[in-house]
Amino acid sequence: MMGFTGKSVYKGLALGPVTVLRKSDIRIQDIRMRRIEISDVEAEMDAVRAAAARAIEELQELYDKALKEVGESGAAVFEAHRMLLEDEEYMGSICDRIRREQMNASYAVAVTGEHFAEIFEGMGDDSMKARAADVKDISNRLIRILEGDSEEDAVIREPSVIVADDLTPSETIQMDKEKILGLVTVHGSVNSHTAILARMMNIPALIGVPVNLEEIHTGMTAVVDGFRGEVIFEPDEETCRLAKEKMEEEREQMWFLQELKGQDSVTLGGKRIHLYANVGNISDVEEALENDAEGIGLFRSEFLYLGRESFPTEEEQFQAFRQAAQRMAEKKVIIRTLDMGADKQADYFNLGKEENPALGYRGIRICLKQPEIFKVQLRAILRAAMYGNISVMYPMITAVEEVLQIFGIVKEVRDELEAEGIPYRCPEQGIMIETPAAAVISDELAQLVDFFSIGTNDLTQYTLAVDRQNERLADFYNPRHKAVLRMIEIVVKNAHRHGKWAGICGELGADPELTEEFVRMGVDELSVAPSMVMRIRKRVRELDI
Ligand code: PEP
Ligand code: MG
Repeated sequence: MMGFTGKSVYKGLALGPVTVLRKSDIRIQDIRMRRIEISDVEAEMDAVRAAAARAIEELQELYDKALKEVGESGAAVFEAHRMLLEDEEYMGSICDRIRREQMNASYAVAVTGEHFAEIFEGMGDDSMKARAADVKDISNRLIRILEGDSEEDAVIREPSVIVADDLTPSETIQMDKEKILGLVTVHGSVNSHTAILARMMNIPALIGVPVNLEEIHTGMTAVVDGFRGEVIFEPDEETCRLAKEKMEEEREQMWFLQELKGQDSVTLGGKRIHLYANVGNISDVEEALENDAEGIGLFRSEFLYLGRESFPTEEEQFQAFRQAAQRMAEKKVIIRTLDMGADKQADYFNLGKEENPALGYRGIRICLKQPEIFKVQLRAILRAAMYGNISVMYPMITAVEEVLQIFGIVKEVRDELEAEGIPYRCPEQGIMIETPAAAVISDELAQLVDFFSIGTNDLTQYTLAVDRQNERLADFYNPRHKAVLRMIEIVVKNAHRHGKWAGICGELGADPELTEEFVRMGVDELSVAPSMVMRIRKRVRELDI
């Protein structure tokens, strides 16, 4: 037995086989140590070409699988990898090296891959770093095929506890949810979007687990205990028995919560809370419905932009929003406009390297500086609003002027749709309160917008000056800090003063120990991970306020 502790992202239990997802440079480094002089240059070059052909087939399979499970945006990365393999410069460079230095194919791939990756990394900006990761990934795949290894580390073959060094939001999105029993990563932060995704998928997940990946192998067994923040590899019989027992208890508890389906989220004193769910894509909407969410309080639309090579079109976005609206029928669906930047990166945005990305070019700032991107999304939202109860809200607001500028752009979009004769509806418009600036001037902002949704994840980060991504600061990141709670109270008061409603869509909204305080403050809506809807409803119904 080997036990480790980490920070828990989702309180649940998992028991099952391990799949280790290794980062791409591990294999390259191994091969770098094994240079072999060869005499048959042509045979080595043929081997590389055959490996490339096989790799393209594998990538096609992965693309098809990803397309089915997570849609086009998640699948796009495999398309990018295929293009790299078809790139003359990369393949030509490998063959040149074999010819020039008379070395074995795997070694030539490893050296070329490293060389290309170094060039990309040296270019500095984040999009080029991602390019470097792609080259390493592809080189790794070629080496694996050349060395006759199976693909066991690259694909999750059976429902498993995934163990990895770290995972980006795009990597997490790409995985087949059905095959993830639990997640364990060496690095990462509990407030990252990867962690939020794990929570939304109801996956017991631990991050910051100090495990040596060299000692963990695919096929081992693991117990992940999200309640205790513990993972045990190769558990003994007794540990497995206890884990199974706890899982059974959990199931019973969930079954009990199911009894609350169809019930109102209303306190004993009759105060009604709108209990909505946070989603990132259409399959989350299904989960929200399964958990009886009364609406969607936060549709993180930027997830439509992640894990792909180019901007999603107006049509793609329109289809996603329309589908969400139609699935939710008359229930509210609040679409948050794209909140890219910080930990949510996509190469094609060319956001560049920043010293302080959380304080940088992100959220509404990108939309205001590049309205051509913003307008495509607004068109999709306004068109989709014809099909259901859609609202729109804008992230990272700090000033009245920003809201006025947004309204100006929305007006232009309306005029354009009007002129083109395209049907649309202008939805209710709200803003996220996730900067201290917005909280302080919420009195003025409330006069402009239809509602507030408080993003406590960022509000905590900016109020306490603690980077939510920085794992070393986890002990300082306290969303229950008095300063944050007082701001929430002020924001709710200011909203009500002007006849507007205010909700919370940050993770704090799902903290059952604060539900009473929020209800006392007058919070009108709580938007939580789908898996938390029933638990918070239970809490609301117990309150005697
Ligand atoms: C928040 O900041 O609380 C929020 C809901 O937005 P995100 O976590 O996507 O930044
Ligand atoms: Mg935020």
